[in-house]
Amino acid sequence: MTAANPASTPNPESAPRSRELFDRALAVTPGGVNSPVRAFHSVGGTPRFMVRGAGAYLWDADDNRYVDLVSSWGPMINGHAHPDVVRAVREAAAGGLSFGTPGVGEIDLAAEIIDRVGPVEQVRLVNSGTEATMSAVRLARGFTGRRKVVKFAGCYHGHVDALLASAGSGVATLGLPTTPGVTGAQAADTIVLPYNDLDAVRSTFAEFGDEIACVITEAAAGNMGAIAPAAGFNAGLREITSSAGALLIMDEVMTGFRVSAAGWFGIDGVAGDLYTFGKVMSGGLPAAAFGGRADVMERLAPSGPVYQAGTLAGNPVAVAAGLANLQAATAEVYAALDRNAERLGELLGSALSAEGVPHQVAFAGNLVSVFFSEDPVRDYAGAQAQQAWRFPAFFHALLERGIYPPPSAFEAWFVNAAMDDAAFDAIAEALPHAAKAAAAATEPGAGA
Ligand code: PLP
Repeated sequence: MTAANPASTPNPESAPRSRELFDRALAVTPGGVNSPVRAFHSVGGTPRFMVRGAGAYLWDADDNRYVDLVSSWGPMINGHAHPDVVRAVREAAAGGLSFGTPGVGEIDLAAEIIDRVGPVEQVRLVNSGTEATMSAVRLARGFTGRRKVVKFAGCYHGHVDALLASAGSGVATLGLPTTPGVTGAQAADTIVLPYNDLDAVRSTFAEFGDEIACVITEAAAGNMGAIAPAAGFNAGLREITSSAGALLIMDEVMTGFRVSAAGWFGIDGVAGDLYTFGKVMSGGLPAAAFGGRADVMERLAPSGPVYQAGTLAGNPVAVAAGLANLQAATAEVYAALDRNAERLGELLGSALSAEGVPHQVAFAGNLVSVFFSEDPVRDYAGAQAQQAWRFPAFFHALLERGIYPPPSAFEAWFVNAAMDDAAFDAIAEALPHAAKAAAAATEPGAGA
């Protein structure tokens, strides 16, 4: 077996308890997980069952400790179990778990979001990023009275039927469902375009302009690896949508309150009409939000006709966690996130260069990615063209040395502000081994 066969790479002895738990999970849950990437399918081996987190570290069921470079896919900007967040959750929980009525914390969290993100004038709280994008698209359709939605290949907006549509890199390609269960009708009004390609957006608007309700984009792409918008891309989307009477939805579920206090808006200042948020503003509990221009948001029920609701929306414990997480995120925290991302990128780059592994270390603010590619990556086609077969060996060499990167070559790496010199020493120690493993990996079918 070669290192390119992911199943051969991990050492099963290092995680016997996780293996047992995974076997139990496989019997009761499809694929053994509640969200697919967690299953380690693209890297092979046993998913680690984490039982505890503190600061920059996670511990698995076998008591192995890891430097966590996933940070729960974003929310843990302050590190795990931050005392202020834990205290806020304890206090809120002690006062009751859910009332199904309006609550004080909801106002405070909405106000905090509005204070931070200039174009957001009103906020509605929901339970997940998926709900946020689904509701924002419904609202855009209700507001404009139009059907079509433009999204970009490689951008992920949750598992909303219409937004799972993807297509080849053709210009103005009508979306096709890419998963059984999404009907052609559900995807028929979705137009998928290449990311960072304003010409494609212009020609699509030239053809369908008066039918397009909205463009939804990740404010900076993080779900095909980290790919920042090219200079002028977001501003171009703003201009094109405004002149066509379509709305611009900035999906900041990943970037919001992570890449700066005001998310990606704090970096490029391009105003969307609607925003979607999640993760950091929930402190790691299930809460999310969408918001934006008051005249658009006022179209939501009960003030307007576009229906949207949630039994647990604005849950007092989730709201308390989110508010405490945001309040703990001081200017120093954002400076630490940026510094830690840069430090991680430097370590990744120097280890891979030392072994002659083709790579690009990419940043979108403090989101970091490694693409095993000779060329800079600016869209999904570029991300897919990388030598992703090097990733499983790279990943497992890190995992076995106590570093927990995302288990996919197409995900961003998330630093947190709790990472200290000891965490970076562990990364620096592990990376040369991982770079060697990536260099030695062979392409499946290459005959090595
Ligand atoms: N939008 C973006 C940009 C995301 O990264 C994600 C999830 O990672 C979502 C939406 C969906 O959020 P959730 O997983 O909370 O449904």
